Amino acid sequence: MRIEVINIGSELLFDRLNTNINLISKILLSYGFKISKCIIVGDKKQDIKDAFLNSFKNSDMVIITGGLGPTFDDLTRESIADALNKKLIFDEKLWENIEEKFKKRNIIPPEINKRQAYIIEGSKIIENKNGIAPGIIIHENGKLILIFPGPPNELKPMLEETIQSIEKNLKREKVITKIYSIIGIPESEVQTRLNDLIDKMKENLIILAHPNLIEIVLMLHENQKDVFLEVEDIIKERFGINYLGVNVSSIPEIIGEILRKKKLHLAIAESCTGGLACKLITDIPGSSDYFIGGFITYSNILKKKILKVPKTILRKYGAVSEQTAIYMAKNAKKYGKCDISLSFTGIAGPKGGTSEKPVGLVWIGVCYKKILFAKKFIFSGDRNTIRERAVYKGFELLREILTKNE
Ligand code: AMP
Ligand code: MG
Repeated sequence: MRIEVINIGSELLFDRLNTNINLISKILLSYGFKISKCIIVGDKKQDIKDAFLNSFKNSDMVIITGGLGPTFDDLTRESIADALNKKLIFDEKLWENIEEKFKKRNIIPPEINKRQAYIIEGSKIIENKNGIAPGIIIHENGKLILIFPGPPNELKPMLEETIQSIEKNLKREKVITKIYSIIGIPESEVQTRLNDLIDKMKENLIILAHPNLIEIVLMLHENQKDVFLEVEDIIKERFGINYLGVNVSSIPEIIGEILRKKKLHLAIAESCTGGLACKLITDIPGSSDYFIGGFITYSNILKKKILKVPKTILRKYGAVSEQTAIYMAKNAKKYGKCDISLSFTGIAGPKGGTSEKPVGLVWIGVCYKKILFAKKFIFSGDRNTIRERAVYKGFELLREILTKNE
């Protein structure tokens, strides 16, 4: 079953984010439906008609959002009726219904809202409990057309109810998605190691790159459940410790789970990352169980005063150095009175680099039991990317040390 989505609204072509497609794909996927295509169309009748006729020709179900409001730029109803050569018929009952909604809000029903009481000949109405504009269901040539208002809070319950009521009558092979996560290996390397698998499953695989994390998304039909296990075995074998697992939580969550299980407490000392590592760790509810806090020592003064990095070390090796990163980690653990610590000191740019210490250079320190070291990295990208990459690399080191030193 092929499904196409059309999101209508000129604002979506200016500066508004099309969040409806995300909403729709999530709801559909939870019922095992996969969307094949999505397009955005402005509030222009000819464009809407063209886009609709194209999708209608190429798919079994077309889902349309937006353009059902009462104003001059809401043209979805007219455009779809026109494209299907159908009349728009004024529905007295529907108008009474709309009038009722306004009266409940103590508003005299505006005349322009009468446009929303027209229904496309042969269609059915989808009730809108959160707004005025009703949705529309059309069965045509064995195909299904669903039209919903644009506001997400109206769309969501209407789509959920509609899909729930029609899904049993729709023939499809249910689609299931699994995500396998790989840490610390670049996406090209991931692809190279999986070339044979990708060759066989191109249609069903997506590789998604995040900072220091690659997701391999596999979409299969319900009756192919065994394949998920086979694929997982291959990934496990080829990525070893770099394989995080299937449908896992985020890296900060994974670290949190390990720390909590081991009853360990973490402290983080940050310079160039300015608190990003602490932010990501504390994004997780309940992180106070294992995170004691951070030392954001951006200046040399605070590195000396708070983390007791010796003046001589800072003078001799500089703030961005192996020695400083080691002192930061060691003393974050000491003054945080905790079990494990992480430190970051580097040059995020865009200025401040030298040939010896270029932009992107970050030293990451770790202190845990008898382990105390700092590792040098040179990250590429703009300021934000460098900081993000550094933090996730630090998390990778942390996870590795915690899993290796059971
Ligand atoms: P409508 O009157 O049905 O065209 O939609 C009205 C409002 O819904 C717009 O002003 C937007 O704020 C919101 N909206 C419409 N389409 C979308 C979309 N695809 N994603 C997010 N919000 C949307
Ligand atoms: Mg609109």
